[in-house]
Amino acid sequence: MAATCNVLRCTSEGAEIVDVSGEHQLRLEAIVCTEHKANMDAGARWVWDDQMDARAPLLMGEDLPPVLTSSRMEVSHMSSLGRTKMLRLEFDRGDGTSDYVIFELTPEAAEGIKNLSRTM
Ligand SMILES: [Zn+2]
Repeated sequence: MAATCNVLRCTSEGAEIVDVSGEHQLRLEAIVCTEHKANMDAGARWVWDDQMDARAPLLMGEDLPPVLTSSRMEVSHMSSLGRTKMLRLEFDRGDGTSDYVIFELTPEAAEGIKNLSRTM
């Protein structure tokens, strides 16, 4: 029985092996159909979540998350929540357009963001 393409929701027959190892020392491979292989070879963006498991699907096209392109913390705002910070995140939607979102952070959320950045 032929393997199916590893790209999420693709039901085509897998035809080619691709290296999805990234910076890993262990070579990790996925099998993709000829159409998705051609897209990858043409530079199409893809994401594979190696934290999930070895059978996690490759994400391409509309299934890709937006790409965070910049972040900026703006400090010292007064609001009904007290003295807060604002987090501005700019992202590329993946279709050539970009947008941004601004979050007002509670002190607890600001501390969470601070701790999160230590894990990167
Ligand atoms: Zn495919």
